Amino acid sequence: MSKAIVSSFYKSDVFLMACRQFDKAADAINLPEAIRDRTKYPKRCLAVSLPIKRHDGSVTVFEGYRVQHSVSTGPSKGGIRFHQNVTLGEVAALAMWMSWKTSLVGLPYGGAKGGVIVNPNELNETELEQLSRRYMQEMVNFVGPQIDVPAPDVGTNEKIMGWMMDTYSNHVGHLAPAVVTGKPIVLGGSQGRREATGAGIAYLTKRYLHDLKVPMSKTTVAIQGFGNVGSEAALALAGYGAKIIAISDYTGGIHNPKGIDLNKALTYVRYQKTLHDFDGGDPISNDDLLELKCTVLAPCALERVITDKNAPKLKCRVLAEGANGPTTNAADKVIEARGDIEIIPDVLCNSGGVIVSYFEWLQNLSSFYWSRDEVLQKLFTMLDKAKDSVDAQKRKFHFSRRLAALTLGIQRVADAKQSRGLFP
Ligand code: NAD
Repeated sequence: MSKAIVSSFYKSDVFLMACRQFDKAADAINLPEAIRDRTKYPKRCLAVSLPIKRHDGSVTVFEGYRVQHSVSTGPSKGGIRFHQNVTLGEVAALAMWMSWKTSLVGLPYGGAKGGVIVNPNELNETELEQLSRRYMQEMVNFVGPQIDVPAPDVGTNEKIMGWMMDTYSNHVGHLAPAVVTGKPIVLGGSQGRREATGAGIAYLTKRYLHDLKVPMSKTTVAIQGFGNVGSEAALALAGYGAKIIAISDYTGGIHNPKGIDLNKALTYVRYQKTLHDFDGGDPISNDDLLELKCTVLAPCALERVITDKNAPKLKCRVLAEGANGPTTNAADKVIEARGDIEIIPDVLCNSGGVIVSYFEWLQNLSSFYWSRDEVLQKLFTMLDKAKDSVDAQKRKFHFSRRLAALTLGIQRVADAKQSRGLFP
C-alpha cells in the first residue's frame, strides 16, 4: 500500500515526537495500514496574519494558527497558546494529543489547538485585546460550538476567552457562549474550570500515591510552571496534605525544603507577574528543579523539558505530566528502563481541563448551570474511570502507562473513522 503523501510544513521536533508516539501505539495495537495515516495526520489547518495597532501608532503583524487534528468523534477541542516560540508543528502536535486525550476520557470531541507567535508580556492590555479579537475574527468561519471549540492554554486566560467569545457573538448576531470554554463565570464560564486541570492532576497523583502506599503527609512536590495549571495543582496537592518544596516560572524557581507558602507566592505573582525575587525560599534554576529529590515532580510549563540528559538524574517517585509533551521519547525510554518512576502521562494527567471544558460547553448549550461541587464530583468520577481503563490496559498488554493511554485514545478515533467510512 502507498504511504501518505503529506507536506512537511508541520515538521518540527515536537511534531515528530507526537508522530513517533503514534507509530509506536499503532504498532502495539496492530492498527490496520488503511486507517493509520488518516488517524495520524491533522485534518486541516489555518494560518493567519494578525495586524494590530500598537500604543505608539505603529502596526505589528503577528502570525497565528489553528490546527484541527480530528473531527470524527465531535467538534474539535483544544486551547490557544500565546507564546513567542509557537510554531505550526508545535500546534499540530498539541492538536494530535488533544485527539487522543478527548478520546481516552470518552468526550464527544475531536482534537485541535491554536497558537499565536507573540510574547504576551510585551503587549499592553489594549494590544492584547486587539490581538485576541483579531485572532477570533480570522477564525470565525473555522470555529463554532459544533465545529471547533477553543479554550485557554499557555499565555491565554479567562479574560482573553471572554474577548474571543464576544467577537464571535458579535459576528453571528447573538450570544454564543459555547464557542469557547474557560470563560469568566459571568459570561457562561463553569464553576471549577479555572482549577480543573490542576485539581485533576492532584486527584490522580493522590490516587497513584495511594496505590504506591505513599502517604500524602510524607509527600514532597516540585512543580515547574506556576501558571494556571501549576499553581492550581500546587494548591490542590497542598490541600491533600503534601508539602510543595519547589515552584518555578520562566524567570526561574524557588526551593524551600520546609514547604513554600503558596498563598504568599500567589499574591506575589498577582502583583509582580513573575516569581523573580520572591523571598519564600532559595533561588533554583528550572533545570535544577527537575532534578530535585522529591516524591512528585510535576512539569506544568512547556514540552520536551525532560530529556535523555536529565532523565537518568530524576529523583522523584511519580512524574505527573501537567504540561503536554514534557517528556521526550528518548527520556521515556530511559525512565522505562529505570523502572523506579511512575509516570502519569499527559493525556491522562492533565485531562481535567478538557473534561470541565466539556461540562462548560454542556452548560452553555443547555443554559443550565451546575454548582462547583457538582462539577468537581463529576470530574473525579470521569478521572477515576479513565485511570482504571488505562491501568487495566497496562496490565492486560504489559504496556507502559503512556502506551496504554495512547493506545486507548488512538483506537477509539480509528474505530470511529472506520465505522463512518471514507467519503466519497
Ligand atoms: P500558563 O500560561 O497559565 O502558565 C505557564 C507557566 O509556565 C507560567 O508560570 C510560565 O512562566 C511558565 N513557563 C513558561 N516558560 C517556561 C520555561 N521555559 N521554564 C519554566 N517555566 C516556564 O499556562 P497553563 O495553562 O498553566 O499551561 C501549562 C501547561 O499545561 C501547558 O503545557 C499546557 O498545554 C498544559 N495544559 C493546560 C491546560 C489548561 O487548562 N490551561 C489543560 C491541559 C494542559
